Amino acid sequence: MSLTSSNPLQTLGIRHAAFHHNPGVDELYEAALRLGEGQVAAGGPLAVRTNKTGRSPKDRFIVEDDLTRDRVWWGGFNTPISPQVFDRLLDKMTAHAEGRELFVQDVFAGTDPQHRLAVRVVTEMAYHSLFVRNMFVRPTEAELENFEPDWTVLNIPSFKADPERDGVRSDTFIIVNFTRRMIIAGGTQYAGENKKGIFGVLNFLLPEAGVMPMHCSANVGPDGDVALFFGLSGTGKTTLSADPARRLIGDDEHGWTDTGVFNFEGGCYAKVINLNPEAEPAIHRTTQTYGTVLENVVLRADGTPDLDDGSLTENTRSAYPIEQIGNIVEEGRAGHPRNIVFLTADAFGVLPPLSRLTPEQTMYQFISGFTAKIPGTEQGVTEPQPTFSTCFGAPFMPRHPGEYARLLAQKVQESGARVWLVNTGWTGGQYGQGQRMSIAHTRRLINAALSGELDNVPFVREPFFDLEIPTEVPGVPSEVLNPREAWADQDAYDRTARKLAGMFRENFGRFEDGVDPKVTASMPEHGEG
Ligand code: ATP
Ligand code: MN
Repeated sequence: MSLTSSNPLQTLGIRHAAFHHNPGVDELYEAALRLGEGQVAAGGPLAVRTNKTGRSPKDRFIVEDDLTRDRVWWGGFNTPISPQVFDRLLDKMTAHAEGRELFVQDVFAGTDPQHRLAVRVVTEMAYHSLFVRNMFVRPTEAELENFEPDWTVLNIPSFKADPERDGVRSDTFIIVNFTRRMIIAGGTQYAGENKKGIFGVLNFLLPEAGVMPMHCSANVGPDGDVALFFGLSGTGKTTLSADPARRLIGDDEHGWTDTGVFNFEGGCYAKVINLNPEAEPAIHRTTQTYGTVLENVVLRADGTPDLDDGSLTENTRSAYPIEQIGNIVEEGRAGHPRNIVFLTADAFGVLPPLSRLTPEQTMYQFISGFTAKIPGTEQGVTEPQPTFSTCFGAPFMPRHPGEYARLLAQKVQESGARVWLVNTGWTGGQYGQGQRMSIAHTRRLINAALSGELDNVPFVREPFFDLEIPTEVPGVPSEVLNPREAWADQDAYDRTARKLAGMFRENFGRFEDGVDPKVTASMPEHGEG
């Protein structure tokens, strides 16, 4: 499995390159160190720094052609580009790659044999290859023998586009071509692009097979009950799904079929800024383990990772095979969910730490996809700001949100899953005045909901979003449960809640035409604007 002369990339037209075909961890460490991509941190991870420290959503394009023209919801994050632009860039990239050392990983996206994609990921950087190996589903030896890629990814960060001539926005680009079944990327070293591109492909393809693709984490309780955790970046999908009492299925993207849920991935990509070993022991251990890629984590002089150092970015990451989290579902699949949690990190401190959603509120919150973006995952964001990202993942959802919402509604109804909204953001005041909810309280609230403990607890309705809040949850102080009571200045709470409700209303306006009036009627009534 080392350097090979047979060319796994004839289709790309790269004639002379030194290919590593399915290199293992040792080989990739050797190459990454030799190529000066990073260094080995104390405990064994490969620590790297990248030119971009987050995704580049504005430089992502989808080739517009007969396959996509009427199926993609253009606008927002789905930017069309012509097949000619794609072909020209691909030609330039392959010419650029000629004669180089390249890394080829054959992997699956999806643990369900019926719905997975066989993906060949070709990278210029050795640590990207390790990232891909860690993050996707690793085929068995037998599966590698007969591996026929459905899709090919070509990622060459040292190739930079010329926006004047190449028809793209900057030197960075990520272009998905459904007809040629290829993704090409240049200009960015941020490893997350390697997986998010393929997610976008699955998110486009799966609904046609009746499968709901979801930006969520998933785990299973001791009696087999499955829980999903939807949420935008930084809301707690990875943190909260790694629960010592529940087996992890996956931390970022899943599909929901007629038989249950399956993970798209074979690894996790955890934020590690200020990671607390007591609150998140399993994830913390991965930052000291051989095989992990540590991205933009600063190392001290003695090689130990300084997880509190955000000087390169707040979006520091650990990418590791899922087996590193001891307590997992090996096959990456399980049955239908019994509970669904929508996570939001509300920097206004308005939404309750936990509330129960009606079916209409479920659709309303799913289509709204609210959080407050905390500094980090995207370029150029340094101040917290409200974000509405439909389906809790607008950047990777090529179809109209209504399509995903209808599929979800149908699956929730058929399964009878209960749906909860959990605010992992601020309490006692908005960002700057209050503080972030404690992870211990959030975990306790979620475990109470999942275990059925809340079935016999009284609930009250709060007046701004009409959300049902439990009045008591063992292990959590009752003033934490009701956000208004957690604020010292309750008039300030009312003003802020009204302002946030107004933002929800304004945002939802653009979807009203496409949704059931009952869903629209579950909008907050007391907002401004
Ligand atoms: P991404 O989609 O970017 O992977 P994510 O939803 O997986 O994002 P996490 O990696 O789980 O997000 O990030 C949540 C961050 O918030 C972690 O750094 C965690 O330590 C921190 N945090 C602080 N308080 C809480 C809380 N109450 N619940 C969950 N996470 C919290
Ligand atoms: Mn995550």
